[in-house]
Amino acid sequence: MTRQRELDLLSEVPDELYIGGRWRPASDAATFPVHDPATGDGLKDVASATVEDGLAALDAADRAGADWARTPARQRAEILRRAFDLLQERAEDFALLMTLEMGKSLAEARGEVTYGGEFLRWFSEEAVRVQGRYGANPEGTGRMVVTQHPVGPCYLITPWNFPLAMATRKIAPALAAGCTVVVKPAALTPLTTLLLARVLEEAGVPAGVVNVVTTRASGEVSEAIIRDPRLRKLSFTGSTPVGQQLLEQAARGVLRTSMELGGNAPFVVFEDADLDKAVDGALTAKFRNIGQACTAANRFIVHRSVADEFSRRVTARVEQLPVGRGTEEGVVIGPLIDDRAVSKTHALVTDALDRGATLHIGGAAIPGPGTFYQATVLGDVRPGSAILREEIFGPVLAVTTFDDEDDAVRLANDTEYGLVSYVYTENLARGQRMIERLATGMMGLNTGVVSNAAAPFGGWHLSGLGREGGPEGIHEYLETKYTLTPDP
Ligand code: NAD
Repeated sequence: MTRQRELDLLSEVPDELYIGGRWRPASDAATFPVHDPATGDGLKDVASATVEDGLAALDAADRAGADWARTPARQRAEILRRAFDLLQERAEDFALLMTLEMGKSLAEARGEVTYGGEFLRWFSEEAVRVQGRYGANPEGTGRMVVTQHPVGPCYLITPWNFPLAMATRKIAPALAAGCTVVVKPAALTPLTTLLLARVLEEAGVPAGVVNVVTTRASGEVSEAIIRDPRLRKLSFTGSTPVGQQLLEQAARGVLRTSMELGGNAPFVVFEDADLDKAVDGALTAKFRNIGQACTAANRFIVHRSVADEFSRRVTARVEQLPVGRGTEEGVVIGPLIDDRAVSKTHALVTDALDRGATLHIGGAAIPGPGTFYQATVLGDVRPGSAILREEIFGPVLAVTTFDDEDDAVRLANDTEYGLVSYVYTENLARGQRMIERLATGMMGLNTGVVSNAAAPFGGWHLSGLGREGGPEGIHEYLETKYTLTPDP
């Protein structure tokens, strides 16, 4: 991978706001820098939207709304399908761009292009399947007509950890449903969304249907948009505390909201698990995206009789994980997103060790340049350790033990979150019992990855509201109307 190729790609990425089909600087001409977390080097400066720019974007979305809602579903679907095709053609560019601004390995970034692209294809297919119903009321005195309508202008806020997939997972169903959008990517990783906007433009998305505001002033710009009565829907992916704050802001306008928030996934290994499968699954569920996924396994809850063997095998595998800049061949462990992430990860490890956990491998930051942390395995993590309660968001695998099935369920459900759980057992009945007993919106039974564009992604409890993907995903952007007509 030559440096020249990186520079060529970066020079092609837009650095302005995309509002009403026009690329333009921020109204006060302010910009902010985007960095490569593997080197600390600046990649590119992009426009930093003001409140005025944010409201201009909402205005553009509002003005484009009626025409887009009236555009036949097939036509909207074909535009999304073209966007899917264009994304495939530029797959290598998107992968490299994500590696540069976020740090994940190129192999994982390619996987995200596949996953993220699927939302464009899936919702191009769903756009034409939005249907209502017609039928007699039970009394036989009238006919009930139930129809679906786009909710209207949507504000979409995305996090830095999956810069492409979190954007397409919202933009595709919104457009398929006939909604227009303002997208605000995370300030740490805005470049992928800007390049995506260019692809959507090339695919034929009309002016004003998708607007992108990059900004350093997320709080201010978002609050102004959320409190504006023209906005009809807020879809947010990010941390639970910010989600809670946005829900409060959305309450005044009784906005429709979708919230994809934090997780604290249990990864339960029963004594009857196939340990080879469990170790493979653990490596994926933990170290994918360098541990920075809402679906990352956070607590490894392992039966006492197999815990030592599990930890030994996992540690042997972790020892082999190549660390480096994501552009280097074979790298698995790239950098964490920033210094704060390194400090937070280390604080959780230190707390667990102070409370009596065993350090099998890792346990320290890697000196710069770049913000790296060693892949770490902790055994015998004690109850009360912060690492069992908080989302780690780093490459740390923490093992705790249990004695029987009830104990495993109690530990797994002992969290305020409820996004995803992973269960390893070769006993079918036990697996079925876990489906019924674990309080999470998603579950991987003998698998360490659950995400799929065709599936309803989302969590229970503090992990959020609503679902993205699957047939459910488009309904987040539709309103229902019931009309009573007389008995003919
Ligand atoms: P974050 O909450 O800090 O930021 C998310 C987005 O909100 C970013 O665009 C950010 O700029 C913006 N933001 C921050 N403060 C804001 C404010 N006061 N008002 C309006 N917008 C604001 O989260 P993050 O660090 O970018 O992402 C990591 C978090 O996201 C983790 O908790 C992770 O679990 C969660 N996440 C959840 C899912 C899911 O689908 N459930 C997927 C990916 C990430």
